[in-house]
Amino acid sequence: MSFTVLIVDDSPAMRSFIRRVVDMSGFDVGKCLEAGDGEDALSQLESSWVDVVLTDINMPRMNGEELLRRMHCDDLMRGIPVVVVSTDSTEARMKTMLELGARGYVTKPFHPEKLRSELERALEVAHV
Ligand SMILES: [Mg+2]
Repeated sequence: MSFTVLIVDDSPAMRSFIRRVVDMSGFDVGKCLEAGDGEDALSQLESSWVDVVLTDINMPRMNGEELLRRMHCDDLMRGIPVVVVSTDSTEARMKTMLELGARGYVTKPFHPEKLRSELERALEVAHV
């Protein structure tokens, strides 16, 4: 079976970079959806089945922390694994994101292998 990945980042260049890493990861990715902020991500999550979310934190309208909070409060979205991909590497922020249910944390700039391994971890957890 193939996975559907949702990439959430306000930078189109970063979204396409992440998409390339995901495409070359060796996972069976059926569909790669993209969102430019948390609000956009939530509406996509309401209308499409997504296996894993890769999200930035600093975004306009709704940031990644608020996105995670909203997902955490939703019975269906709570089960979707989330990997944070952000320049924010402060301990307090990482702690908050992990408490809100994030399964992995990748600090930008990142090596493609780091994202690949976090993605692998997140997907395995999702399919236990
Ligand atoms: Mg950003």
